[in-house]
Amino acid sequence: MNARGKVYLVGAGPGAIDLLTVKAFQLLQTADVVVYDRLVSSEIMEIVPDKCLKHYVGKQESEHTLPQEEINQLLVDYSNKYQKVVRLKGGDPFVFGRGGEEVELLVKNKIKFEIVPGISSSVAAATYAGIPVTHRGVSNNFTVVAGHTCTSTGFDSMDWNAFSKLGTLIILMGVRSRSQIATNLIKVGKNKNTPVAFIERATTPNQNVVISTLEEVANNPPNVSSPAVMVIGEVVNFHYDWNWFNSNDYLKEEVSVGI
Ligand code: SAH
Repeated sequence: MNARGKVYLVGAGPGAIDLLTVKAFQLLQTADVVVYDRLVSSEIMEIVPDKCLKHYVGKQESEHTLPQEEINQLLVDYSNKYQKVVRLKGGDPFVFGRGGEEVELLVKNKIKFEIVPGISSSVAAATYAGIPVTHRGVSNNFTVVAGHTCTSTGFDSMDWNAFSKLGTLIILMGVRSRSQIATNLIKVGKNKNTPVAFIERATTPNQNVVISTLEEVANNPPNVSSPAVMVIGEVVNFHYDWNWFNSNDYLKEEVSVGI
């Protein structure tokens, strides 16, 4: 059967509604159906008009309410029924978002599609904690790693030795393995005093930043709840002076999306 509609694979950004792109905002207001994940904030879903069909396919780390294959099939089915299908994902669709698998299926089924990048939590979380992922003279590169592979067979294949020699390390999905990650980095020679930041629920009014060191995270990990971005490196020290977001002034300001 020839598909009629078009699927838009859209990044929703890290959570705050004013971090949506203008394109994402416009698509959400005109979509026929929105298929969305757990990481998409309820605040963002509120801008989707009532007449639009909203389909939640929320996924928790290692706990999928809908298997990826079923999500893929859903997109095919919806594109046969509707003109404008938005597949909305947290952050950027291609940063550990399994967006590629969905695109593969769309290509295979000859379904028209567009991809709309989103602001990835990997960078936005650090920025909202007053941490620059690079800074002249401190770190000239950053690497984004999926921490959850630490708990599966993927762990041993990760080159922690190489990571330890790079600049800023940013770990997504790493809350559960945080102690293991820190232990491994110390084992391969990373300075145990390297500062570590966990930014929980970044960019939302409930954002919380926990600062620690590699040694502490390895031996006595602080309480951190998911979703959180883990930032490892000397750039974390800027947080103390640059932490702009948690100032009450900002939160009290009315944020309007006047597009
Ligand atoms: N595509 C997403 C990442 C998906 S992987 C992006 O580009 O941001 C899911 C992981 O992203 C979570 O386990 C967490 O580490 C991180 N994450 C996403 N949104 C977050 C938020 N608002 N605050 C903190 N971490 C977040």
